[in-house]
Amino acid sequence: MTDEEKKFRCEKCQRDFASEEALGHHNSAKHSETKKKEEAVRKPASGKKARNWIFLILVLGLITAGVVWGVSGTVKEDEYCQNQPVTDMNIGGHTNLKNHIHQEFEIIIDGVEQEIPADIGISPGIMRPIHTHDASGEIHVEGPCVRDFTLGEFFDLWGREFNSTQIFDKTTSNGTLKMYVNGVENSEFENLVLIDDDEIKVEYVSN
Ligand SMILES: [Zn+2]
Ligand SMILES: [Zn+2]
Repeated sequence: MTDEEKKFRCEKCQRDFASEEALGHHNSAKHSETKKKEEAVRKPASGKKARNWIFLILVLGLITAGVVWGVSGTVKEDEYCQNQPVTDMNIGGHTNLKNHIHQEFEIIIDGVEQEIPADIGISPGIMRPIHTHDASGEIHVEGPCVRDFTLGEFFDLWGREFNSTQIFDKTTSNGTLKMYVNGVENSEFENLVLIDDDEIKVEYVSN
């Protein structure tokens, strides 16, 4: 290789050229393209940086949204628990119970104790917040929030009649209906709020 030849050598790809002009052509033809390519490569790199920022902002946004959603979800759950009609409410089971109280319930018609069956408020896949697990007369009030339930709501779930003038098909036009809570006569009937450990007795005597 002579010095003359070296003079027209492309520094980038080590190709030799016959003249400076040829090298110039070569440079503008090959290496200006390379330059463009380099730029083209650099651009996505800066684009990538921007994407990283967008990604980070999105992640932070999602986390914030997740927290807000989680909190509002809890609020919604509580709202649901507080406001849902008892006949539509499904507590699903015995997990996450914030409320779990019991009452002893007894119904006597003309001296005969009436059966309060097991599984009132319970059917496959459904557990209402007021239910029975056996026929002992124990009412279970359970749910994901603390909320008042009434004896009338228990009867709604049972599908039987109960109010101040009626128990089942027995009405006060043909008899006397009385209710006792912990041994004390009570006139709230279907509106009685169920309180833990209450002993509730409904008694009907035909005329
Ligand atoms: Zn229970
Ligand atoms: Zn239960």
